[in-house]
Amino acid sequence: MKENSFGNYVTMDEQTRLKLLEGHVDVLTPAAEEQNKRLASVRCPNCGVRPCQPFIDCARPFVSGEVLPRKLLNCTNCSVTFDPDSLIQLNLGRLPTDSEKMASMFINVKRSKE
Ligand SMILES: [Zn+2]
Repeated sequence: MKENSFGNYVTMDEQTRLKLLEGHVDVLTPAAEEQNKRLASVRCPNCGVRPCQPFIDCARPFVSGEVLPRKLLNCTNCSVTFDPDSLIQLNLGRLPTDSEKMASMFINVKRSKE
């Protein structure tokens, strides 16, 4: 028996896990690869930096029809936390520099043309 911060738990041996998974299609690996690829392509709406650091949205982790938990992004440059789909900023982070404002404006113009 092992112990972690959640208390004691018993892990299943690998043979039993593999036997239980037999015949099931792996939907998690392709979904995780697609999610990672999509999140890596999103630029910070405040300063334009990418990639940003993904983390699980603890306030709303699961959405109907999704196999993976929702993730938010945290910019490692300006500390803005934002939704990667809507680009809505959940905090202000630090104020962008003039060059970051210009980069962000360019990104937004480019997006509106797409
Ligand atoms: Zn940023």
